[in-house]
Amino acid sequence: MHPRLLFWIPALLRYALVLAASAGLWFFFGSNVALLAALLAVSLMVFLQLFYLNQLSEWLEHPDSSRLPDGWGAWTMIFSRLYRMRRGDEKNQAELTEWLARFRQAMHLLPDGVVIMDDVLFLEWCNPAAEKHLGLTLARDKGMRVTNLIRSPDFMDYIILGRYEQPLVLTLRERKLIVQIIPFENRRQILVTHDATETERIDMMRRDFIANASHELRTPLTVIIGFLEIASSQANLDPETRSAHLKLMTEQGHRMQNLVEDMLTLSRLESVDHPLRHDRVAMQPMLEQILQEAQALSNNRHQITLEVTAGDIKGNGDELRSAFVNLVSNAVRYTPDGGRIEMLWQETEQGPQFIVKDSGIGISAEHISRLTERFYRVDKSRSRQTQGTGLGLAIVKHVLLRHGAALLIESEAGVGSSFKVRLPPTARWNS
Ligand code: ADP
Repeated sequence: MHPRLLFWIPALLRYALVLAASAGLWFFFGSNVALLAALLAVSLMVFLQLFYLNQLSEWLEHPDSSRLPDGWGAWTMIFSRLYRMRRGDEKNQAELTEWLARFRQAMHLLPDGVVIMDDVLFLEWCNPAAEKHLGLTLARDKGMRVTNLIRSPDFMDYIILGRYEQPLVLTLRERKLIVQIIPFENRRQILVTHDATETERIDMMRRDFIANASHELRTPLTVIIGFLEIASSQANLDPETRSAHLKLMTEQGHRMQNLVEDMLTLSRLESVDHPLRHDRVAMQPMLEQILQEAQALSNNRHQITLEVTAGDIKGNGDELRSAFVNLVSNAVRYTPDGGRIEMLWQETEQGPQFIVKDSGIGISAEHISRLTERFYRVDKSRSRQTQGTGLGLAIVKHVLLRHGAALLIESEAGVGSSFKVRLPPTARWNS
């Protein structure tokens, strides 16, 4: 049935009933009684209409679907329609609130900064990453012009030129930011910021590494090519000079070989598809072998001792060996003849540790924090003289990182150094 008929038919029936009842009363009790009864019935109906009108007006002040009255007559239909409409609204509102909460959370977690501005660059909203990148505080800066908040000539030029299809690289508060403005809607613009400081740092490290490695390789190559040119232009070189040249060329060849090997080791250690092994590393035989190698390198110029009081560990034996060899060979190379070198493998409460102590040239404090950087040397010529590649401690650092171990360096120029490798307790074989 049509809803309008559903409304009219019961209402008309009620009026017809009142009229019929009044007519009946007129017939039996006379006109006065009939008029009085009709008046009462109409008053009751008017009162009911007023009552539900008042209920509706009260409800409209706080339109909550759970508070709707049931109603009577046509009101039942009105209230049930209002109830359905309100439920629909409440559902939409709940969905919108949920979406807004999700959007806010996503914006809070986004590592990139997002700033919403109007068409004349007044700040409307920004996420925490944008606050961090651009030094903004939403609560304080809302409604202010972004060009007054981001005080950078490059940013001003970007705004003036208005070439927003291109991003801008901006150095701000010691960060390298990639900034781009994207117009949206009719009168709004989004400013997106991406922090490229870390990428830039890695890029710079890579560039430095290539420049340093090329430089390191060029020096021995220049020497070798120089001798080869002498050999080809002077056919009758005396055997003594020739063998001296060959010796120097061989030395330079070894230097290049060491360098390439260290570079390969570093790149292997850094590669992500090279997970750490947890083999049993037999420390006693490994350290005894390292002692023998150190003695061969020292050629009786130093007094070298080894004391082993801790047991075996878990890890990658080859990597740990290469780290320990680097530390011990450094001790030999940077300790003048007659000096003492001690190797200790001991147990502590914090885990097993390997210590290499020497009475060598030592390192002054300002260099210590930089020693594990690639190609960092305190004294370049001394490192080269002793066949150093400048990558030894960088390799040590990477191996230790992979084993959750720490490198502690104590040193005093002219007195000696102590390099301590502290492994975590979980590295013990029986842990
Ligand atoms: P290198 O191949 O030059 O020895 P490393 O990375 O092994 O490179 O060491 C970096 C620098 O740290 C060395 O050039 C040297 O100046 C310093 N160094 C390392 N070990 C010692 C030590 N035991 N005594 C003094 N200086 C050291």
